[in-house]
Amino acid sequence: MSCLFCRIVSGEIPATKIYEDDRLLAFADINPQAPLHALVVPKQHIATLNDLNADHDALVGAMVRAAAKIAKDKGYDGPGYRTVFNCNAQAGQTVFHIHLHVLGGRSMSWPPG
Ligand code: AMP
Ligand code: ZN
Repeated sequence: MSCLFCRIVSGEIPATKIYEDDRLLAFADINPQAPLHALVVPKQHIATLNDLNADHDALVGAMVRAAAKIAKDKGYDGPGYRTVFNCNAQAGQTVFHIHLHVLGGRSMSWPPG
């Protein structure tokens, strides 16, 4: 198994867990870009957003709701937070197992770089 996030899901590589359920794992980003920087990943390997189909709709919905719960648990639901999916190289995707970034705790600019 060569996928980094599959190896984190399996426990082979350690991570700081923030949230877990039967379908999802969320853990702290190793190179945080904000006071809160979590990554929500499905336990199932899906390489990019381009690989999603209608069978994944509930799973992706659960990822978004998990992100909102993580932000709320940290107190960022009121002040605001950002969620980001990067897809492929030009967007900066470096790990090819879909993940939802959850960033909070500081002001953020728009448009993103
Ligand atoms: P992306 O650039 O959207 O593919 O995001 C990949 C993210 O994974 C980056 O923010 C990295 O800092 C993060 N990352 C890479 N390796 C690890 C790791 N071992 N544990 C936690 N986060 C990681
Ligand atoms: Zn994977």
